[in-house]
Amino acid sequence: MHKFSIIGKERGLDNRARNDILLLGFAIRTCGSRCKIPLMKTNTQHTEIPLSLASRIQALAVSAPTAPWLGDAEKAALRAQIKQRLIEQDAVLVAHYYVDADLQALAEETGGCVADSLEMANFGNTHPAKTIVVAGVRFMGETAKILNPEKRVLMPDLRATCSLDEGCPVDAFAQWRAQYPDRIALVYANTSAEVKAVADWVVTSGNALQIVRHLHAQGHKMLWAPDRHLGNWIARETGADMLRWQGHCLVHDEFKTQALEDLIALHPDAKVLVHPESPESVVKLAHVVGSTKVLINAVQQLPDAKFIVATDAGIFWKMQQLAPNKTLLIAPTSGEGATCQSCAHCPWMAMNGLQNLLQVLQTGKNEIEIDEVVRQRAIMSLDRMLAFSRQQGLVAKGRGDR
Ligand code: SF4
Repeated sequence: MHKFSIIGKERGLDNRARNDILLLGFAIRTCGSRCKIPLMKTNTQHTEIPLSLASRIQALAVSAPTAPWLGDAEKAALRAQIKQRLIEQDAVLVAHYYVDADLQALAEETGGCVADSLEMANFGNTHPAKTIVVAGVRFMGETAKILNPEKRVLMPDLRATCSLDEGCPVDAFAQWRAQYPDRIALVYANTSAEVKAVADWVVTSGNALQIVRHLHAQGHKMLWAPDRHLGNWIARETGADMLRWQGHCLVHDEFKTQALEDLIALHPDAKVLVHPESPESVVKLAHVVGSTKVLINAVQQLPDAKFIVATDAGIFWKMQQLAPNKTLLIAPTSGEGATCQSCAHCPWMAMNGLQNLLQVLQTGKNEIEIDEVVRQRAIMSLDRMLAFSRQQGLVAKGRGDR
């Protein structure tokens, strides 16, 4: 059980004194926004997520309404209507690998894309359509809007959030960032537009390793937020000096080491593919560690016939499409200490369905809007990421390359 103390201007402390106390491992809360900031336990290595915030995230996950099951005839009718609306409205559908298979298939059939968050950002930025419909979670829609202010960005359900985004409130992050003006602040794409606006760089699991290596080689020290497991993995791989926020992905955090070892013993011929948002002990069992795109490429390109996959089960649609003869097993989320809040499928990705997709195209509701001041700041950290990724060949060259 963590203890949190309230310190700050209300106790008459100057900045230096507050820094000193932060280094001792206490929480900070300034008087200017005292109602909004959860108390964060901070020290030189990490910033813990307070239990009150963790509980709120759990409650959001439990209450997320999954898109309803539909019969084949109903799906066919909805697909036909959506296709027609996409054409009428000069709209393109961009879907994440973790959303329902029907949405992924529809995105491909209609000239959109199915991708990870890096490719989604790049695709939306390069496609000429006037409307981008993002099937994913909210930060993905926000990223599309930041990069394309002139376009309309719609989402099937704006309540589709992310435990990493929710676990990194902007006020607390900004305070942490202010404590370390000598460090470059990197934030994962899974953050709000406001957090991106405070950061120097945005990264995704598809480019974080390369970006940190690049900054480390230039002698920079860094702040990393919000995923602790990805941050730990990158720090281990690069040797970079990174202070780390302690958020986690509700899906990947649940993979269980002992249960995975048991599954590997049952299938010794399987290659183990792990997304680096998973715990270190799970990552250590992997043959391949990487972003969704890296894991998909591994299934397609490795000669092995069987794979155990530790990431959201939504990815199986794309893996099976590209490698139909291979056997795919989901890594276990059950076992000692299991809570199974996700059972390897993100509750917020699961909110996206054909019905609410058609509704937003019919009504124009669920449009993403971002304050222009925030957007102007956030685009700088996103543009750095995209320019670097295009230069390194991690994504296709894009329009503008601001
Ligand atoms: S799978 Fe994890 S990182 Fe992705 S949106 Fe869901 S909670 Fe966030």
